[in-house]
Amino acid sequence: MRTAVFSTKNYDRQFLQPAASQASHELAFFEPRLNIETAPLASDFPAICAFVNDQLHADVLGHLAAGGTKFIALRCAGFNNVDLETCHKLGLRVARVPAYSPDAVAEHAVGLMLALNRKFHKAFNRVREGNFAIDGLLGFDMHGRTVGIVGTGKIGAVAARILAGFGCKLLFYDVAQNPDCVPLGRYTSLDDIFSQSDIITLHCPLLPQTHHMISHAAIHRMKRGVMIINTSRGALIDTRAVIEGLKSHHIGYLGLDVYEEEADLFFEDLSGQVIQDDVFMRLATFPNVLITSHQAFFTTTALEQIAGTTIANLTAFERGEPTPNELLPAAKK
Ligand code: NAD
Repeated sequence: MRTAVFSTKNYDRQFLQPAASQASHELAFFEPRLNIETAPLASDFPAICAFVNDQLHADVLGHLAAGGTKFIALRCAGFNNVDLETCHKLGLRVARVPAYSPDAVAEHAVGLMLALNRKFHKAFNRVREGNFAIDGLLGFDMHGRTVGIVGTGKIGAVAARILAGFGCKLLFYDVAQNPDCVPLGRYTSLDDIFSQSDIITLHCPLLPQTHHMISHAAIHRMKRGVMIINTSRGALIDTRAVIEGLKSHHIGYLGLDVYEEEADLFFEDLSGQVIQDDVFMRLATFPNVLITSHQAFFTTTALEQIAGTTIANLTAFERGEPTPNELLPAAKK
């Protein structure tokens, strides 16, 4: 099926093209992000393929439907950028990649914890400059520390398994318990997670109920010196609240792979430009903040799986076959 692929990078081509050729789909790769200006590029394509920061809002969806698009293949798990109600009204069907190497994201989250704790980012620079002093690089043993995991789905459960291996005490919060996590720690309230954890790692989706879950009030309930890790979605955290928490030393470490306003920054080389986002730039100045540019998913295993499932979703739609990866508006689930 002819499919317009938005937000294309070289690595998308590298993994999607072979999978598409095997299934006889014809992909047209477009570098721009999908938004109201770029939506006309999808004209006459029965399917489009979109990523995390493509804008699938009502106005864009209207354009797509008017141009003959019938299917949206998301090459990601999260779908907070898609107006599913409008898709349903317009007869646009949507499928995602619900699972692809949860290990990739969980390992990245744990990598952020270790790097922040043992200050790898600073040590790397020091040693390159011939500075072999270790003062200022003092860390703590992960063993015995309490880690609060918010969201114990596929990624949260892998994070739990890894951290249990380190000998951490685990607290879990989720709206539904995962039987795989029960033997590894204790389910408790979000309030207990906030007040008892040395490290809090977020693995729940971005929903109206979870938006700005890390707020001023939540930070005030946390232990002084807490480490917060977010590899899930940026808007789980109120960025201005964490900046205040960092300035007052209430937050001891912050590791982010996602950022509320990342759509204007992440995945692009802006090194020659003046970054206009003052909030982000303030965040990046703290010595105890480590930010990666939404790369937690970025392993060969994950990209192979994303490509395989995305192409399988296109094939299922073309053949009129049902797929468990299809997203329905809440009322239809
Ligand atoms: P999942 O659906 O397997 O797990 C999500 C868990 O969150 C579920 O157990 C669910 O019950 C729980 N949850 C739902 N509402 C909640 C609430 N209000 N409070 C607490 N928990 C709640 O999803 P997953 O595959 O583990 O992915 C988790 C998130 O990671 C995704 O939503 C996505 O935003 C993010 N993600 C990020 C990257 C990256 O590269 N940084 C890659 C993949 C996924």
